[in-house]
Amino acid sequence: MKPANSVLSSYGTTVFEVMSRLAIEHGAVNLGQGFPDGNGPGDVVRAAAVALTEKNNQYPPMLGLPELRQEVARHAKRFYGLDVDWSREVIVTSGATEALAACLFGLIEPGDEVVLIEPLYDSYLPIVRRAGGVPKLVRVEPPDWSLPRADLENAFTYRTKLLLLNTPMNPTGKVFTRDELLFLAGLVERSDAFVVCDEVYEHITFDGAEHVPLITLPGMRDRCLRIGSAGKTFSLTGWKVGYLTASADLLGPVSKAHQFLVFTTPPNLQHATAYGLSLDDGYFTELGQDMKRKRDRLADGLAGIGFDLLPCDGTYFLNAGYRGLADHVDDEAFCRVLTLEAGVTAIPLSAFYQTPDVGGFLRFCFCKADSVLDDAVSKLAGFLG
Ligand code: PMP
Ligand code: GLN
Repeated sequence: MKPANSVLSSYGTTVFEVMSRLAIEHGAVNLGQGFPDGNGPGDVVRAAAVALTEKNNQYPPMLGLPELRQEVARHAKRFYGLDVDWSREVIVTSGATEALAACLFGLIEPGDEVVLIEPLYDSYLPIVRRAGGVPKLVRVEPPDWSLPRADLENAFTYRTKLLLLNTPMNPTGKVFTRDELLFLAGLVERSDAFVVCDEVYEHITFDGAEHVPLITLPGMRDRCLRIGSAGKTFSLTGWKVGYLTASADLLGPVSKAHQFLVFTTPPNLQHATAYGLSLDDGYFTELGQDMKRKRDRLADGLAGIGFDLLPCDGTYFLNAGYRGLADHVDDEAFCRVLTLEAGVTAIPLSAFYQTPDVGGFLRFCFCKADSVLDDAVSKLAGFLG
């Protein structure tokens, strides 16, 4: 057989799938892959069901239903004061994953440099490389995830085409501050680059941490492509509805990639997402508050067992150091042991780095029912205590 594409073939199955399969196989409580328990807000799900039976099920417009694009624009104005022309500056995508791929395929020319901040969400690097981009990796690290400003200064050159920025950041739980974003904006302008802004956790921030979309900062309006996800905002990760906001000049090439990747996204889910985005502020505030309660519940339990907790200002994820509990075990092996013997699955933090030399930390997902979190903590306590 002739060889398949070498970039994609060089990757194994994603760690989220691997750990979820292992959890199922061993009947473990799955705090690995990031998906909420439950079935999302009932009214949003019902809106999808009604649209399925009562509205059109044929191809919607390639850029997305006008109703949804209008709501995406209104949402940007309501939460960030951003003026968006829905007819020229919004595309609906099949999840944030497709939005990311469309941006990268649409904008990267082979040889272009792309700055990325590790630890990385799994799809970034394979798609950058498949598009012919040359990754320039900069790391944030435990215990404080502070921004390595000198490394970033060095990573940006005249060859930099893009920065791929994720805030609130998976897996770290870091919410970039305005000051950090202003620093990045300066580097982006200096290199005359664009920024793909993965903001899927925009409404999941805690303790007063403010999510600032980079696109709202001076000089950034025409350089940023801002990505949101109904999966995260409505706790419906299986829906794979995303939305992309950028200047018409940037969206043009990205829509070329979108039309050949998926062309469009199921219309009933678009209708329901439009309904969801029109909900009162209370819905969005409660989402963050609810997740904060869950973070605190899991954090208290893990701290009681002896894990060292890392800061977490947003997302679904809490990272914890285990050196005080199991000194010499590497994190991948420890995740296997915990799944098989304690009955709890987490994700090894090293899986998000290219060079897996950040040892001794696990990523736990806390967007679960209280009873599930309590069960996980008591199983871990039983095994490690
Ligand atoms: N980016 C990040 C940082 C994520 O955590 C996720 C969640 N899986 C995605 C993108 C993908 O989102 P979607 O399910 O909408 O494709
Ligand atoms: N975003 C999820 C996580 O980080 C997983 C998404 C996926 O499985 N592709 O756990």
